[in-house]
Amino acid sequence: MPRNAESKSAAAPPAPSKGEGLARRRVAGPVRDLAIVLGDQLDIDAPLIRELDPVRDAVLMMEVAEESTRVWSSKQRTTVFLAAMRHFAMDLQSRGVRVHYITLDDADNQQSFGREIRRAVDLLRPARLRCTWPGEWGVLAQLQNAARLANVPLELLEDTHFLTTRDEFSGWAAGRRQLVMEYFYREQRRKLGILVDAKGGPVGGKWNYDADNRAAFKTAPKPPLPPTHEPDEITREVMALVERRFPEAPGTLTHFRWPLTRAAALRELDDFIDNRLPRFGDHQDAMWEREPFLYHSLLSTPLNLKLLNPREVVGKALRAYEAGRVPLNCVEGFVRQVIGWREFIRGVYWHIGPDYANRNALDQHGRLPEFYWTADTDMNCMRHCLSEVRDNGFGHHIQRLMVTGNFALISGVSPRAISDWYLAMYADAVDWVTLPNTLGMAMHADGGVVGTKPYAASGKYIDRMSNYCSGCKYDVAARTGPQACPFNVFYWDFLIRNRERLRSNQRMSMILKNVDRLAEAERSTIAHDAERLRKRFQISGEE
Ligand code: SF4
Repeated sequence: MPRNAESKSAAAPPAPSKGEGLARRRVAGPVRDLAIVLGDQLDIDAPLIRELDPVRDAVLMMEVAEESTRVWSSKQRTTVFLAAMRHFAMDLQSRGVRVHYITLDDADNQQSFGREIRRAVDLLRPARLRCTWPGEWGVLAQLQNAARLANVPLELLEDTHFLTTRDEFSGWAAGRRQLVMEYFYREQRRKLGILVDAKGGPVGGKWNYDADNRAAFKTAPKPPLPPTHEPDEITREVMALVERRFPEAPGTLTHFRWPLTRAAALRELDDFIDNRLPRFGDHQDAMWEREPFLYHSLLSTPLNLKLLNPREVVGKALRAYEAGRVPLNCVEGFVRQVIGWREFIRGVYWHIGPDYANRNALDQHGRLPEFYWTADTDMNCMRHCLSEVRDNGFGHHIQRLMVTGNFALISGVSPRAISDWYLAMYADAVDWVTLPNTLGMAMHADGGVVGTKPYAASGKYIDRMSNYCSGCKYDVAARTGPQACPFNVFYWDFLIRNRERLRSNQRMSMILKNVDRLAEAERSTIAHDAERLRKRFQISGEE
């Protein structure tokens, strides 16, 4: 470097950070429409964005601490949202959109959506607020309240990211005694013309290939690793901010790998279709030590941020199937998750209403054990699943349902406590996803709206689907005594405690007959052992 350039450089003020750069390009009012873009609404094709007038309108984006502290949020999750928002805002600015961006460290930041919206309204004097329908009841109320207090009309736009509107789902659900996902999924297939033949029947003759998707591994698998998206300068800046602002937040940022731009999300999608989808189906339910991803997609995070659209995700999977690169059971299993389960869960969330969060049909009130946050437990399956969530912000659906969720269900943890944990720890967690999946599916707290029976399982299931038990200090074959697998103890205790409550459920009748056959002395030993474990894990009382 020439000497004069060096000295000039030394005398110049430090370059603004990317976050400061975003904040410095503030918008001057008044504006016509102020379009509020939330952290899980980064959809470049949303009508809210497409209808912006670059001269008269502006976008408002806000980083508020309330979102990371109202319910605890892990370092991974907070970084995912803030870094993806910053990338999206810069993308908008590069397209000529005026963005009023409030960073977390802004000295005037009021750290709540409601107060920040009112501050922006005072500054920019918009004629109208617009926002895509949010993903959470609480945020909807905050938006409406802020608009009312600011005395500005608020227009909420349908979220076109989804394949099913809230009204369409409610129309489907109206009058049904039970909302069965499988029936919803079949209608989605017909409606969208996906994997259906000329007569409207399923391609291949079956709607569902789940029975082919339960192959366990016999030896160590060698699935191809998903791509790592190295954090760029913007993401590294957010990581440092999160470490500084939320040092006590759970989880680590050591293995941060998430795609946070649309381009990176498309790379993630292509990699999954080419390298893991062809074997996704067969081993969908398998678990293996030190193989956190196996053949699973990691697309739920960019999908829930709206960086990807479900239509393009399913379209690419179907084209790979039609080209003969992916077998039917694999593509069907994947399509079911995107057009079936994901849309069903969102429909349930909005159809039932905010009261859903308080449901507790099994009357469970236990505390969440501390090891859920730290992974410091001697149960090998839990240690592996929890440390992967802590370090990756990810666990696949069987780990979520049959290990971490199952343990909370059978041990008696309160559904709200475990639901808040899922919302905090997973990089893809948003309220409409977490509540029905946790309260409904994992905890049966909705009394059977989402799942037709409680997904309670003993250690035998985990042993069949993983290699966890061979490295565990507990005996997976025992259900009583100090070495008995805690999953076995809690499983039988759960059935004993709930057998009258579950007796009317046809799908539980075979299992409950096994409980009825237990001798009274064994039932009492199981109940005693379960209470001892609950105290040891601090689910109830002190040991
Ligand atoms: Fe988990 Fe029980 Fe197996 Fe240990 S023995 S890994 S606690 S299922």
